[in-house]
Amino acid sequence: MWYANYGKIIDDAVFGSRFIGVSFSLADKKRQEEELLALNTRLSEQNAQLERLNAELHTLATRDPLTGIYNRRHLLEVGEREYQRSRRFAHPLTLLLIDIDFFKRINDTWGHVTGDLVIRAVAECCVNEAREAIDTVGRIGGEEFVVLLPETPLAAGLAFAERLRQCVAEMRVTTHDGIDEAAVTLSIGIAELNANCRDFRDLVALTDHALYRAKREGRNRIQGHDVSTSAL
Ligand code: GH3
Ligand code: MG
Ligand code: MG
Repeated sequence: MWYANYGKIIDDAVFGSRFIGVSFSLADKKRQEEELLALNTRLSEQNAQLERLNAELHTLATRDPLTGIYNRRHLLEVGEREYQRSRRFAHPLTLLLIDIDFFKRINDTWGHVTGDLVIRAVAECCVNEAREAIDTVGRIGGEEFVVLLPETPLAAGLAFAERLRQCVAEMRVTTHDGIDEAAVTLSIGIAELNANCRDFRDLVALTDHALYRAKREGRNRIQGHDVSTSAL
């Protein structure tokens, strides 16, 4: 029970010393305060849940569910932004397009579950080699990946690509039945942003062309875009 008490001692010539006071209940005020507190607690819980749901929604919209790396849509968004930034400040920007060699054989030999394990392992190699919070790693198709390297000229991009190629070539993925070990190689097309690129998609086209050549020339290799033979 909550009560408020006010009182005063009064010295009076006629009546002597007296104590005059008043007591009243604070029950309503306290109940209102408690209701407000409960309401605020509920509100902050709901806010926290909303934030969690928003973060989840963002993950769903930007990430590839199999590998957890970025999806095609997000990659194109980041790519266009990085393209604008690199253009404006005349900074280098290098892009890699990566495709697993003869991936159909993996699926045909061990099935899709093992195929998925291989895709995840390759994605992990890409993430491990990339610079956290600077490079963007994404999966843009079944067994195709992209790595965007801001502030990176072609030479440094080639060194990155070679590390990645070796990492995957040495990697062994235990098949889903735990019996065998699957091995794959990568073909990588690589290009640096040049004056002929009118948008990010033009840079993607250059890497796509280079990747096509890497495949044609034997796979398990890196092919840089040759500016002198550019079609753009
Ligand atoms: P190449 O060296 O020319 O790239 O040969 P490839 O066998 O890798 O050729 P291709 O790119 O045509 O084959 C890709 C295969 O990847 C075809 C498809 O069945 C498989 N694939 C696509 N998405 C997935 C996936 O999410 N999981 C699994 N397990 N397989 C997938
Ligand atoms: Mg492919
Ligand atoms: Mg392939």
